[in-house]
Amino acid sequence: ALLVRHRMKNSGKWARALAILKEFEEKCGSPISKLKQVADAMTVEMHAGLASEGGSKLKMIISYVDNLPTGDEKGLFYALDLGGTNFRVLRVQLGGKESRVVKQEFEEVSIPPHLMTGSSDALFDYIAAALAKFVATESEGLHVSPGRQRELGFTFSFPVRQTSISSGALIKWTKGFSIDDTVGQDVVGELTKAMERVGLDMRVAALVNDTIGTLAGGRYNNPDVVAAVILGTGTNAAYVERAHAIPKWHGLLPKSGDMVINMEWGNFRSSHLPLTEYDQALDVESLNPGEQIFEKIISGMYLGEIVRRVLCKMAEEAAFFGDTVPPKLKIPFILRTPHMSAMHHDTSPDLKVVGTKLKDILEIFNTSLKMRKVIVELCDIVATRGARLSAAGIVGILKKLGRDTVKDGEKQKSVVALDGGLYEHYTKFRTCMENTLEELLGKEVSKNIVIEHSNDGSGIGAALLAASHSQYLEFEES
Ligand code: BGC
Ligand code: MG
Repeated sequence: ALLVRHRMKNSGKWARALAILKEFEEKCGSPISKLKQVADAMTVEMHAGLASEGGSKLKMIISYVDNLPTGDEKGLFYALDLGGTNFRVLRVQLGGKESRVVKQEFEEVSIPPHLMTGSSDALFDYIAAALAKFVATESEGLHVSPGRQRELGFTFSFPVRQTSISSGALIKWTKGFSIDDTVGQDVVGELTKAMERVGLDMRVAALVNDTIGTLAGGRYNNPDVVAAVILGTGTNAAYVERAHAIPKWHGLLPKSGDMVINMEWGNFRSSHLPLTEYDQALDVESLNPGEQIFEKIISGMYLGEIVRRVLCKMAEEAAFFGDTVPPKLKIPFILRTPHMSAMHHDTSPDLKVVGTKLKDILEIFNTSLKMRKVIVELCDIVATRGARLSAAGIVGILKKLGRDTVKDGEKQKSVVALDGGLYEHYTKFRTCMENTLEELLGKEVSKNIVIEHSNDGSGIGAALLAASHSQYLEFEES
């Protein structure tokens, strides 16, 4: 009798755990009808953000990039790509139309976590020092001509109020960064001062967001690129707008007629977004409560954390992992999205990878196959919602561009350059995003829309923009 009662108690708990999962799944639901509303809301907010400064949650930042690379860019340029847990330094030799990228060298440096929440000087000193070290490795084959100042394209992947192609004030930090004294400062000024402190003579020729760099890098390889999307630690998009369609732009109309816009779509929010109690709690406890809501349900920094939160609730309220809650499970951000991805892609019949991850990361031993299946299901719910919403965002941009329909059998291709670790490494996320895009656009339109992986295009893109904004350009052209 005791055994029977024990079983009943357990099956009650199991049912409760499944009920928690089921409720979460329902709240995360993203049927096509809802995604269409999200896409429409995105288009509406784009208009509002372009109409006036502060007119929308979407900042629709004017990048001052009114010309994208043509292939004519020439010379040796540096790029610095700062945006996640790593930063990269690049040296690129551009050879013009015929020879294109002649040679490139790069180095990746990780950022010690304490610098992400320390002081502005400490962060920029660290970056400048790494850059100086890299510059010192210029070789016979790859160096700047004597007497010429080195020039840099600075990819800075945070919202910046640009004041020119080579200056701009940080609006706020996102992702894991939080350094109060940088906010409101010109980040090019901060970098330049740090370079002076380490004795590096280099001019920042272009300050760009990673979406802008990716767009530039993408266009360099394919003239049909009209937009760029980053799905990585954070998420964002940029696209080519017609300058006369930007009411808040009071500058001269560029010769090209175009202006690239950094949407900062991570900050998008709408009543149509499927948000859950877990998202709300994650937001409240985050470094930037109330902000980057779209980012917090889509991007790599947060997906694993959402999974952890749901598992925590299942452990607390349904004893999913036994009578006590595994202590490690209570540590925020301990379950990273790459771990989640590994579990989600586990194809072994006994879900061995899931078991190993639970053991290694959360110190949860002895899980049953049934439990591991539930965990895979949970990963699927979280990834699917993120992937489908990012597809909806892309459709919002295509709508704004008038490229979401086929006009009289037109075959004009629209290419969207994609980059970021989430897109690159989380296969199920990528596939779901691409399938949803096709579902939303329909077969006919989808034939004209191409998603192209722009592998680390943002670094090269920044170097290309440094080249087209070089101080030596006029001199060379005349
Ligand atoms: C930042 C964007 C950036 C994106 C992808 C977001 O958190 O606000 O500026 O483009 O991450 O790196
Ligand atoms: Mg990459």
